[in-house]
Amino acid sequence: MVQSSVLGFPRMGKLRDLKKATEAYWGDKISRDELLSEGKRLRLAHWQIQKDAGVDVIPSNDFAFYDQILDHHQLFGTIPERYTKYNLHPLDEYFAMGRGLQKEGVDVPALEMVKWFDSNYHYVKPALQDNQVFKLAAEPKPVAEFLEAKAAGITTRPVILGPVSFLTLAKADRGQSVDPITLLDKLVPLYVELLEKLKAAGAEDVQIDEPVLVFDLAEKSKAAFKPAYEKIGAIGAKGPRITLTTYFGDIVHNIDVLANLQSLYAIHVDLVRNPEQLDTVIAALGPNQVLSAGVVDSRNIWKTNYKAAIEKVENAIQKLGKDRVVVATSSSLLHVPHTLASEKTLDDEVRDWFSFAVEKTAEVVVIAKAVTEGPAAVRAELEANAKSVQARASSKRTNDPTVKARQAAVTEEMHNRKSPFPTRHAEQGKTLKLPLFPTTTIGSFPQTKEIRVQRNKFTKGEITPAEYEKFIEKEIEEVVKIQEELDLDVLVHGEPERNDMVQYFGERLTGYVFTTHAWVQSYGSRCVRPPIIVGDISRPAPMTVKESKYAASITKKPMKGMLTGPITCLRWSFPRDDVHQSVQAQQLALALRDEVVDLEAAGIHVIQVDEPALREGLPLRSGSERVAYLKWAVDSFKLSTAGVTDGTQIHSHFCYSEFQDFFHAIAALDADVLSIENSKSDAKLLQVFIDQAYPRHIGPGVYDIHSPRIPSEQEIKDRLEEMLQYLTPQQLWVNPDCGLKTRQWRETKAALEGMVAAAKYFRAKY
Ligand code: GLN
Ligand code: ZN
Repeated sequence: MVQSSVLGFPRMGKLRDLKKATEAYWGDKISRDELLSEGKRLRLAHWQIQKDAGVDVIPSNDFAFYDQILDHHQLFGTIPERYTKYNLHPLDEYFAMGRGLQKEGVDVPALEMVKWFDSNYHYVKPALQDNQVFKLAAEPKPVAEFLEAKAAGITTRPVILGPVSFLTLAKADRGQSVDPITLLDKLVPLYVELLEKLKAAGAEDVQIDEPVLVFDLAEKSKAAFKPAYEKIGAIGAKGPRITLTTYFGDIVHNIDVLANLQSLYAIHVDLVRNPEQLDTVIAALGPNQVLSAGVVDSRNIWKTNYKAAIEKVENAIQKLGKDRVVVATSSSLLHVPHTLASEKTLDDEVRDWFSFAVEKTAEVVVIAKAVTEGPAAVRAELEANAKSVQARASSKRTNDPTVKARQAAVTEEMHNRKSPFPTRHAEQGKTLKLPLFPTTTIGSFPQTKEIRVQRNKFTKGEITPAEYEKFIEKEIEEVVKIQEELDLDVLVHGEPERNDMVQYFGERLTGYVFTTHAWVQSYGSRCVRPPIIVGDISRPAPMTVKESKYAASITKKPMKGMLTGPITCLRWSFPRDDVHQSVQAQQLALALRDEVVDLEAAGIHVIQVDEPALREGLPLRSGSERVAYLKWAVDSFKLSTAGVTDGTQIHSHFCYSEFQDFFHAIAALDADVLSIENSKSDAKLLQVFIDQAYPRHIGPGVYDIHSPRIPSEQEIKDRLEEMLQYLTPQQLWVNPDCGLKTRQWRETKAALEGMVAAAKYFRAKY
């Protein structure tokens, strides 16, 4: 019989219950016990959903209060001393690592958080010491959660991150120089210990994630892989059967490390992304090893095409037999929203094309049944599915001839600014008259409760559009006034009208649909609700001009217009899977180009086009796919921004500063000013700007905006001093890491005061 399996389930709950509970706990509104019991309730509910759907292999330990990787820092005792020294309750220590803590004599910043592979999920990077000692937690979470499910009558397969991935995704802590992978021998015994404990608790199976196998692994990591798993496997029957999972790419280039690894019971591969790896992986399996076939897309919301998925599974069955194939989700379902059932406003046509986590859970069951018992066993499901797939393919909604014609007319010149940077810089100097070390912010200001309340009322029709507009104007006035008081140089309107930097645009473009409850976790308690691209994209009317123009009209200082770039719009939406992403990106670029030109015509001469998602779209491995991506991604940005005159300053923003592997792409964007996240990374990363003789302007973030902690003025000065080792005073802008929407006003004002003072200090000095 072919089993069905889910690799992980979203943990927020149907109504973002987990977000609400954790934030209530942080705000001292509920007790620790109340938060813990809410977590328990959610875990049980999610296991029950999967059990009721008939899933054979249900995951546990996929739950986390903040981040599942952060859980592993505690599991293995890799908690830097700056956190342990406060002797906090483990849960508070955990949150302190995730988001920083500044309370009752405790003052510690968060650990660095980075994107999880090419997704928009962020994990907290393990920070290791040169003399790192690993220690298994006294009550390991995977064991506790397995037992919790067991007590509820549900047998689960605990999920843990594998040792090679844990170390490959880790870094040396600040001031340390250890190469994490060299610690593997010290870490592996903890896995052995953990597996024994799991087995003793009754776990027959365990899922060990080794997603780094989809990377071009460094030789050292690659060489370390097999010996580590041989050691782990040596426990034999004293440990559970191991299903080793990989996802988001193919593992063909690393297949030799898996060949003959008898300690593994099964290997899971992502057959949505890379169906072509199937034969190679099958050929590498030992005589009894099982293939877990990831055929249900866990990264997108499209209904699975049963016919195509069944073909893939049948193909595997032919070679391996039914007992050696498992039907699975491609990765954890963490990346898709909870359930389609919550969507009450989608029209029936498109609704029929979608499938979220709960629905995908049912899909693996149907596919497993179809291949086990034959199609007749699920005839009704297969027929309905075929009809839906057909309806989407032939729908008028997906095709707009006007958009296609405009794309066909795009020329090479449309991608280039009129003059090179020095000319533009001189022109911009005339109108903008900025001092050295100009200060600015990345766009959003605190999204207060009041803003959310008013937006909600407006959405529900409880206030009129005119009333809402008045409210937004009042917000803009306040934000402008505060920025003037702070004496910032380039102002922003604060984005109060935007619920989200992509959804806001999605709602104003044709070709998009949006949801009401389809939230996906981005980091910690933060969720995003990506809009869905269903058809060809165009811009029926200006999207941001009214607000920017109003903001500019009430100040003498330059006002920065604020747009989300084509790649970010694409990446932070659920894209179509029936048209290449480059086509969708170009459609978005043309829509944004019109907006940029309209902003300029309205008197806005600084325009920021955010592209924080540019890097996460980078194919995970080097080679032709990456080259192709960078070409069309850079072209889309340039197409969207190159319609302006020399005197208009184009900014772009990135939420990271690790540009080493794609610096030429960042440079090729030809933006006049880049703002990048840098406060939690090493200023050394800026070396690349010297090495490559980067001529334009850069604002590396001077403080962390993910944390409520207020940096001191001295900290910011120190940071700028460090940056000046890499950037010239003429090049350096002064700004925070990113937008301030998740912050409180009190923190924001205090932090920006320090920032402006620090900039003035350097201005006086140079
Ligand atoms: N302009 C956006 C903001 O300030 C940028 C956010 C981002 O880069 N993620 O909110
Ligand atoms: Zn950012």
